[in-house]
Amino acid sequence: RIEAVDGPAESGVHAFLHLDAEGALAAAEAADRAIADGAPASPLAGVPVALKDNLTTTDMPTTAASRILEGWRPPYDATVVARLRAAGLVPLGKTNLDEFAMGSSTENSAFGPSRNPWDLTRIPGGSGGGSSSAVAAGESPLALGSDTGGSIRQPGAVTGTVGVKPTYGTVSRYGLIAFSSSLDQIGPCARSVLDAALLHEVIGGQDANDQTSVSAPLPPVVEAAQAGARGDLSGVRIGIVTEFSGEGYQPGVLGAFTDAVRTLGELGAEVVEVSCPSFTYALPAYYLIAPSEASSNLARFDAMRYGLRVGDDGEHAADEVMSLTREAGFGAEVKRRIMIGTHALSAGSYDALYGKAQKARTLIVRDFTAAFETCDVLISPTTPTTAFPIGERADDPLAMYLADLCTIPSNLAGNAALSVPCGLSADDGLPVGLQIMAPALADDRAYRVAAAYE
Ligand code: GLN
Repeated sequence: RIEAVDGPAESGVHAFLHLDAEGALAAAEAADRAIADGAPASPLAGVPVALKDNLTTTDMPTTAASRILEGWRPPYDATVVARLRAAGLVPLGKTNLDEFAMGSSTENSAFGPSRNPWDLTRIPGGSGGGSSSAVAAGESPLALGSDTGGSIRQPGAVTGTVGVKPTYGTVSRYGLIAFSSSLDQIGPCARSVLDAALLHEVIGGQDANDQTSVSAPLPPVVEAAQAGARGDLSGVRIGIVTEFSGEGYQPGVLGAFTDAVRTLGELGAEVVEVSCPSFTYALPAYYLIAPSEASSNLARFDAMRYGLRVGDDGEHAADEVMSLTREAGFGAEVKRRIMIGTHALSAGSYDALYGKAQKARTLIVRDFTAAFETCDVLISPTTPTTAFPIGERADDPLAMYLADLCTIPSNLAGNAALSVPCGLSADDGLPVGLQIMAPALADDRAYRVAAAYE
């Protein structure tokens, strides 16, 4: 299937940056032997999985879709990768993303965009468009992504697949190339809610290598997906976030969302409207906090430790080699973020920019806390529009940033959120996503509602 649809990069789905057919075959044979010996490590033993290329792997390159990491081989596996291997899953290869996960379309990849299998002229979402399009195109039944502001859920929505951002701290970030450490979270991409839950259980749980890893037991997501599949939501109170509709939302997206609300009611849920007024600050707060943390995280790419090194010819001093390497190795969006973040953290701007954004973050947490006092879960469209044409927003960063309007609040608050397919838009026949948000450590609630709806 990968051979049939993934290439060539100019016109194919281009979900993969690297394939490891031999490694996958060996892992599959090992899983077969374990099953034959009566010792399968997991119900997913032998099942292929694609890995976003910002997760470190010892047996495959890890580029974060950046020239600056070209040729680098990580010395260790990310915890999630180690857990997949231990459970007998079969890593197929590394998937495309926006460089360092900064973007909403994969167009910021240094290696060319991925394409949406529903319409190859359109974006597959981002930053994890490679993982979601691999699942949507039938190239891999499962994939892992990372979600800092929506990079698992938005690609899931626009490719008609399931994408989950677990509660912050419940899936180890060890071996995830850091973008914005207080927001980053690894999660599953899958074709069904139950598949996502099964993968979630393999990768989740405390890890001593991640200082923000939480010790609470992983919420019972598989049980919740199975319970939800019985299709009874009586006793569940669902809040529609009123701020996430209206201007800027395509009629076809709102139409599919309204149909979903009706379905949830028919399944027995009580659906009410809730206002979260501070959510309107989420996007501007995110675009200060995420670049600030990124500017600090990306300082490690100094031409000494990883991959690319430019100007190391005996003619240039070390600081010049660093500048030349960063100039050549980082793409335009990454440079933009480093500059925004450095500015927001500088002495003259810190209080007015970074400090204010942190205050907005607190207000958003309070809105969630108040809303979850009366509602079990909150819902919204995952993203205001369906997949847009490749190139349409490439030169307009502000338009690109709007794709994550509805997904960002859950990153800022650290709670659980997922996107489940919600039919096709009457405007263009493309997939729409329903976002379901749940309190921190109540990921199972989102799974239950999603499985019932699905
Ligand atoms: N699109 C958002 C950004 O560009 C979110 C990215 C992400 O979740 N990794 O920052």
